Order: sequence, then structure tokens, then C-alpha cells
Amino acid sequence: MPADSTTKSAYETFLSAACERLGYSKTITSLLTLAAMEIKVEIPIIRDNGELAIYSGYRVQHQSARGPCKGGLRYHPQVDLDEVRGLASLMTMKTALVNIPLGGGKGGISCDPKTFSPRELEVLTRKFVKRIHREIGPNSDIMAPDMGTNAQVMGWIHSEYSAIYGHSPAAVTGKPLSLGGSVGRETATGDGIGIVVREYARHHNLTLDGMTAVIQGFGNVGINAARALERLGVRVIAISDSRSAVYRPEGLDLETLVQRKRERGSLAEVSGHKEIEAAALLETECDLLIPAALENAITEKNAGRVFARAVIEAANGPLTCEADSILRERGIDVVPDILANAGGVIVSYFEWVQNLQREVWPAERVNSELDRIIGDAARGVFLHSREKGLDLRSAAFDIAVARVKEALDATGF
Ligand code: NAD
Repeated sequence: MPADSTTKSAYETFLSAACERLGYSKTITSLLTLAAMEIKVEIPIIRDNGELAIYSGYRVQHQSARGPCKGGLRYHPQVDLDEVRGLASLMTMKTALVNIPLGGGKGGISCDPKTFSPRELEVLTRKFVKRIHREIGPNSDIMAPDMGTNAQVMGWIHSEYSAIYGHSPAAVTGKPLSLGGSVGRETATGDGIGIVVREYARHHNLTLDGMTAVIQGFGNVGINAARALERLGVRVIAISDSRSAVYRPEGLDLETLVQRKRERGSLAEVSGHKEIEAAALLETECDLLIPAALENAITEKNAGRVFARAVIEAANGPLTCEADSILRERGIDVVPDILANAGGVIVSYFEWVQNLQREVWPAERVNSELDRIIGDAARGVFLHSREKGLDLRSAAFDIAVARVKEALDATGF
């Protein structure tokens, strides 16, 4: 879980190894490790019960050599500075790997949004923007949704920021369409996973039709990844949310599960679907195992019981460093988060471009550009991995780190 800052230490391990392979100095490694700016603010709000409560908010701007910092805003009880640091640095690598002109940032508020009324959430969000507005904006740091936040939260950020600086839709992405959001943003991360999996299969001459997938997480990424994989002919046989996990070997009835979750808040008791233990889900035999929920879902404790051909990191940092090594030793491919889930930041980039240019792109343009950008990045990683004899994460980090270093060199020190 985030509290032990494993994402940050995993990032540092992967980064150091890449810098060593690329022959970079210790100073460059430090520069790529440290965040350029870290903000922590305290946000007092009056809860609906009349009591005053204080929440800690964070924004970390990791690197902006290649463009303004870009990254989500997370509302979760376990958010802390180290978690945000780790996620911000992953964003720098993600934007560099897919080669879009943005840097990396991340933010969060340590709170449990499930216990908040819409009014409380709105007040919390607006106060956070009031505290940090000088440091964010279309040319410096652009926020987006992440766990516990959504288009509505981005709408409040847009409104609060625009109240200070004038109409500024490009200051935040993942907004509702009515405020300048992009078509395709909602499904972008899941769609991107589908494209990356398609390229993975092509690279290995595999037929997707009839392959099986198991997905942990039934939120934006999990559901849309499941839909994208089904369109490719992959059979999704098990899925879970934070409370339940269901299994159906002939393939899940996904839309019934979506409806059941919407109506009852649970995946349980859908006919033909067997309920299984959450831990058993990750150990289900399948072709593609897709952690799409939280950090550190796969650790040294359960990595030995993963029975998949490939793990596709739909979540950010779902594997600990130890789990990564165990899977590598066992010959299980890991398609790293900085590639697998980059669809979201790519369509966020399209939204930013549309807002800056006062344009509205049709869905076909968003989809074909997404396919081109993430498809190119995936092919690049698979090729580099084969040519250099590297695992996929090392190949992805080498490409991304070299791009950030090139920009740093070009800016001069
Ligand atoms: P979400 O809040 O929409 O969904 C998260 C899901 O995970 C929920 O269904 C929740 O019930 C489930 N979950 C939580 N704890 C769980 C547990 N212990 N076991 C099983 N399921 C559990 O969040 P999301 O937007 O889908 O994001 C999921 C992950 O993907 C995060 O790591 C996020 O950083 C990453 N990500 C999201 C996007 C995006 O566009 N939304 C882009 C890139 C990366």
C-alpha cells in the first residue's frame, strides 16, 4: 500500500538501473530522482455535521524539461508525500516514453471521498485550488482525475482556477465535455491497454481470440480495459472490486456486472458468476493478468503464485520491486505501467491541445491519434527489448530516461 512508499523506491530502483545502463553520472541520476517542486498544504473544511476537519493536500512537480508537468489528483486515505512523489516521477517517464511534450506531476488529498457529501467534496477541492493556484496552470502544471476524483472534481478545479485567471480550460483535463473535456478521455486508459495488448500479441505472433484475462479493479480502468479486451476477442474470466471477486470460465457478462455494481454497489450474486476470494483472483490461471486497482497488489508474497503469460500493469505501481524480479525470473512478461496505462495521459494531452487551440476533435481523430501514439510507443518498447535483450520495463525506462536527459541537456544547466 502507498504508506510504505514502495512506488517511490521502485521508481528509484528502475531509474538507477536505467541510468547505469545508459552510462549517466550520479548527479544526473539524482536530478532525475528528485522532484523539482513539492507542495504540501493543510485544508480546513466544515463537514456537514458542523465539525471542523483538516486534510493534507499535496502537489509534486517532478520534471518539466519536456513540457508542463502533467498528472492526476488522487483522493484516498493513504495519500502521502512519498506516494505522490513516486507517482509524479512515473508521470515524467510516461510522458517521455510516449513522446508527448509534457513533464510529470501528481497530487492528492489524504481523505476518504466515499464519506464525503458532494458539497464537502466541492469545498475541499475549491479550497485546495485556492491554496495552490499560483503553482498550477496550462503552462506549468495540469491536473487530471485519478483514484477518488472524476470529471466533476475537474469541473470544480476549472471553475475555481478560471475565477482567478479568466476562462482557462487548458488548466485541467478530464473535465466534463460541457466544459471543454475531450471525447474519449473517459475510456482512454482502458482503450490504450487494448492497443498495447494488441501490439504485444502481434510482436509475439499470438492470437488474441480466445485468450483469457483476469482483472483486479472494477473502476474506470478495469471496466474499460475489460471492454477493450473483449472487443479484441479476449475472454475476461474474473474481475474484482474492493469488496468482491467473481469468476466465470466461459467469460464474464460484463455489462450485467456493471449494472449490478451501479444498482447495488457490489458484484456479488450475479447468476452464473462464482464468487471467489480476492487473493485467489490474482492466482487464477490466465493469459493476461491485469492489476487495475491499487499499488503493490503483487508482492514477493504472491508473485510466485501468478500463473499468467503476461502481467499488464494497468494500475500505477501494482508490482513491488521484489515481485517484478520474481516474475522476471519465472519468465512472465510484465508490460510496465508507464506504457500500459499511458492512454489516459495521451488523451489528456489531446484535451489540453484542443483547449489551447479552441478546437473540438471528433471521436475518430482522438481514437486514431491515440492508436498512433501509444501503438508507436509499444512497438518501440517491444523492439528495444528484443534488440537489447532487456525485459520490457528496463527497455521502457531506457527509452524514457534518455528522452528526459536529452531535453535536460538541451535546456542547459
Ligand atoms: P477507480 O477509483 O475508478 O477504480 C478503482 C477500482 O479498484 C475500484 O473498483 C475499487 O473498488 C477497486 N479496488 C480498490 N481496492 C481494491 C482491492 N484491494 N482489490 C480489488 N479492487 C480494489 O480508479 P481508476 O481510475 O480505475 O484507477 C485505477 C488505477 O489505474 C490507479 O492505480 C490509477 O492511478 C491508475 N490509472 C488510472 C488512469 C485513469 O485514466 N483513470 C490512468 C492511468 C493510471
